[in-house]
Amino acid sequence: MRISKRVRDIPPSGIRKFFDLASRMEDIISLGVGEPDFPTPWHIREAGIYALENGSTTYTSNWGLLELREAISEHLNNLYGLSYDPEREILITTGSSEALDLSIRALIEPGDEVIIHQPSYVSYVPCVLLANGIPKILPTFPEDEFKIDPNRLEKLVTDNTKLLILNYPNNPTGAVLDKETLLQITHIVEKYDLFVISDEIYDRLVYGVEFVSFPSLPNMKERTILINGFSKTYAMTGWRLGYAAGPAEVIEAMMKIHQYTMLCAPSIAQKSALEAFKLEDEVKRMRDSYDQRRRFFYNGLKDIGFDVVEPKGAFYIFPSISGFGLSSEEFAERLLREERVVVIPGSVFGECGEGFIRCTYASSLSDLKEALRRIKRFVASLEKSSTLKK
Ligand code: PMP
Repeated sequence: MRISKRVRDIPPSGIRKFFDLASRMEDIISLGVGEPDFPTPWHIREAGIYALENGSTTYTSNWGLLELREAISEHLNNLYGLSYDPEREILITTGSSEALDLSIRALIEPGDEVIIHQPSYVSYVPCVLLANGIPKILPTFPEDEFKIDPNRLEKLVTDNTKLLILNYPNNPTGAVLDKETLLQITHIVEKYDLFVISDEIYDRLVYGVEFVSFPSLPNMKERTILINGFSKTYAMTGWRLGYAAGPAEVIEAMMKIHQYTMLCAPSIAQKSALEAFKLEDEVKRMRDSYDQRRRFFYNGLKDIGFDVVEPKGAFYIFPSISGFGLSSEEFAERLLREERVVVIPGSVFGECGEGFIRCTYASSLSDLKEALRRIKRFVASLEKSSTLKK
């Protein structure tokens, strides 16, 4: 066998399977993809066109354009009072995905344990395994609104625990952590000398609650790599642009891997992103629109009878389907085949995601309305067939 065992052992992302199935069908409503339904704001696209016209088609510094690093530094300072040196503490990456991979590879030795709360974004476990680390899963539950229980977290720490990966606002649950829970987590991080990767890619998409950036908490800046990017807030998924901010020593180590594997992030995307931080009105407009759709879809699911925690961030909702007698994969597959609605089975996001489905509500209101109609009909057919069986 030519393929390394490490790679063979990693299952392909369960999300892809549903897109492949859906791509062969017609009249589909997709609540599957994790991306905004807006095109990138015009000013950013225009800057991209201008960069192309101007011939800005070469590599940039390995670190990324200094001007963009300065803009990110200022942005994090304005939002969270964080102060990062743009020359040594910020690295521009090819999507936040690259920042995640680099930070894990730069930090862990083979056999180090990495605590990952679940349900969680699908990349964390594979990235840890590819770096020869050992993922330790911290389940979260709807009774706690999918927030981390600090006591459970502390029980999972061993002498080999090196890292904690945090993702709030969370994909797939839409949960946001409150300050009190975050402070309790900081105590555990300090007590056991852990390091944290905080994936804050949905930081600007919170609804009626405060978002607290993890490194802004007492003593956490020197123990955290903050990961963020342009994909979600600025509807730039296809531009592949993200960044990491943290202690110079770690950022420099990440930079070492980055310079040999990626050279630099796309130059045109970097030029365009210089416009992004000037577009607060656009960010607000998109957030308000997601919020409207969030409320509509949440209420719609409740009306149908779903047991569902109100999501406070990102653009996902994670209703329970455990009452219908199907696994989350069966539920999603049948919903697709019978009613042509794409949702993602919760099991894709970890074992404790079983019994749930993830729906992205970043679709038009009319699609959401139609999706609810179809889901209602599907659920009614399940209920009918289960009463017939009785
Ligand atoms: N983190 C989370 C939690 C995500 O949901 C995503 C995208 N779905 C990413 C990271 C990766 O984003 P990108 O590489 O486009 O910045």
